[in-house]
Amino acid sequence: MGARSRSASGSRDGDRRIGRRALIVGGAAAAAGAAVLARDELGRLWWRVPGVEKPRTPGEVDYAGARWVAASEANWRRADRPDDFGIDIVVVHVTQGSFASAVKAFQDPGHQAATHYIVGQDGRVTQMIRELDVAYHAGNRDYNERSVGIEHEGFVDRPEDLTDAMYEASARLTAGICARYGIPVDREHIIGHVEVPGTDHTDPGPHWDWDRYLALVRRAATGEPSREPTGGTRV
Ligand SMILES: [Zn+2]
Repeated sequence: MGARSRSASGSRDGDRRIGRRALIVGGAAAAAGAAVLARDELGRLWWRVPGVEKPRTPGEVDYAGARWVAASEANWRRADRPDDFGIDIVVVHVTQGSFASAVKAFQDPGHQAATHYIVGQDGRVTQMIRELDVAYHAGNRDYNERSVGIEHEGFVDRPEDLTDAMYEASARLTAGICARYGIPVDREHIIGHVEVPGTDHTDPGPHWDWDRYLALVRRAATGEPSREPTGGTRV
């Protein structure tokens, strides 16, 4: 979400295409795959058989620190990532509104956009779309299919909105995402909405401290306490 000059983000992503795998692999092929797998391997990998989706439990979250609130199904597309689409990007957004208003927008089927997560200024994390699924947040279909989107509560022109608690909570969340999918912790793979090709959005804006954020993600990834370095930028 975030500042934008035109209302454009949702419509480009609003397709409901059937997953590549579902098109390619029919029942017979899936059965053959299952036989091979059963012969060779453990049952716990059954969901890796093409055409078989991973199990889903209502209310389940991908990040242990998150609370689940479901987004409207109009704002995302069911998928089976990372098997149908690989995940190699995290997209950072700023909401241009309150935490509550972002949750409400993502629950609204008319909004046509939502991120997987929202991080509050107090450090709370809400997950609204499973990482398995494609959220409409980047305004670019390819980037939506390959990314996880994270909203941050605040306004791009208010540096005081970017709190320590929010940076640290978001960094822990992103470190977990990077670990799950083998995403390198760098600016090629952790990007702002403004950097998505074709976007007219400006978030997370000029006050987002990328050096600080990447350092916090790396620290969280290595399990070190996420404390500010001496002389580190305070916001
Ligand atoms: Zn955005």
